[in-house]
Amino acid sequence: MKDNIKRSWAEPYKMKMVELLKMTTPAQRKKALREAGYNTFLLRSEDVYIDLLTDSGTSAMSDRQWAGMMMGDEAYAGSRNFYHLEEVVKNVYGYKYLIPTHQGRGAENILSRILIRKGDIIPGNMYFTTTRLHQELAGGKFEDIIIDEAHDPENEFPFKGNVDLDKLEKLIKKYGAKRIPYVSIATSVNMAGGQPISMKNLEELRALTKKHGIRIIHDMTRVAENAYFIKEKEKGYSNKSIKEIVKEICSYTDGATMSAKKDALVNIGGFLAINDRDTFEEARNLVVVYEGLHTYGGLAGRDMEAMAIGIGESVCDDHIRARVGQVIYLGEKMTGLGVPIVMPIGGHGIFVNAKKFLPHIPQDDFPAQTLAAEVYLESGVRTMERGIVSAGRKSNGENYYPRLELVRFTIPRRVYTQAHMDVIAESAARVYERRNKIKGLKMAYEPKYLRFFQARFTKL
Ligand SMILES: *Cc1c(COP(=O)(O)O)cnc(C)c1O
Repeated sequence: MKDNIKRSWAEPYKMKMVELLKMTTPAQRKKALREAGYNTFLLRSEDVYIDLLTDSGTSAMSDRQWAGMMMGDEAYAGSRNFYHLEEVVKNVYGYKYLIPTHQGRGAENILSRILIRKGDIIPGNMYFTTTRLHQELAGGKFEDIIIDEAHDPENEFPFKGNVDLDKLEKLIKKYGAKRIPYVSIATSVNMAGGQPISMKNLEELRALTKKHGIRIIHDMTRVAENAYFIKEKEKGYSNKSIKEIVKEICSYTDGATMSAKKDALVNIGGFLAINDRDTFEEARNLVVVYEGLHTYGGLAGRDMEAMAIGIGESVCDDHIRARVGQVIYLGEKMTGLGVPIVMPIGGHGIFVNAKKFLPHIPQDDFPAQTLAAEVYLESGVRTMERGIVSAGRKSNGENYYPRLELVRFTIPRRVYTQAHMDVIAESAARVYERRNKIKGLKMAYEPKYLRFFQARFTKL
């Protein structure tokens, strides 16, 4: 029988408890936005209707995770929840040794301190803010080896997270393998718009690094979302489960840092996982200095329990299909309404191309910052600037002028409904309709570090 009816991505859960949201009027939003200096980071969450600032720590936990919270074993040493988490990490991801940390950057700090020596080079598939900073603080230098396609918002290549192996070989030739402690590989590359890396590319990368005796460290913050794209788009994987694909991805790497606030469906938590015994012993020593004892690493027992359960839920096929399905639903709806977005649609959010949306606003007048403010004003939807404000200044004081001037609509997991997605797309479309009347912004206050968090603006 022919099957012509579209199969939807409906949620594999139902609601047991809801959190009431405040609906605001245009006048209230206008006032709130002015008080926030036209910076969505400075809005009070109370004044936000749909919050798409980030997918970090904003997921909804399941009833099982909440039940797990009640089973926290808050012993200082050897908590039962630690052993549960250790077993889950071994079973689901295949890494041998586990060090819990308070969140992803805690693991990055410890790992960077152990593996990086002054003058080392760390190649990676595009930088991430905290990851690169810890590599630099340890004396290393990050080198981007992602394929060129990743820097082009309109290129539709399905695996824009791939490593350009030629770029890596050139680095090895130039610096020698001894100065490269590891290659830093992210699955679902955040800064490229949640773009996946292919299994084939990982396999080839493993072969190349093995030849030179170089480790691969995996930023596995969104590994399950990456696995979904491999299942959907890579030859030979459509019949494999997300669980199998996740384990295979991890098998090509030597260790990982994890921000469990993303894929793993918890509000706080992370870990370092590693296969090599010596590195593990050193990490177990260092974690005591920066995080806490090696069986809690800055977390309560209940947090580790919720994480252990969340990891199991995160690699279920039904969950991830609905998770990414919702993001794709929003992206397709926006595209259908004419809103220009980064293609292909990634795993954790929609990135609107502000340069194309507001072509009459020069980059110096902050088009993405302006657009994020206008979307909030329209409907109370909070998004985030990823453009010239986020890029900051060079050491000589000049602004960076990034090629990508984007507004990120990040989707928390299991939090919003399809009707919310419709409201979001329609808000963006309504702003798009009146785009010609929109004027840019002027920066009124500029903090010295990471200015996007606290900068204030006035209307031009
Ligand atoms: C969020 C994130 C991190 C850092 O994790 P935190 O839990 O915020 O410290 C590292 N890498 C990627 C790709 C992330 O998205």
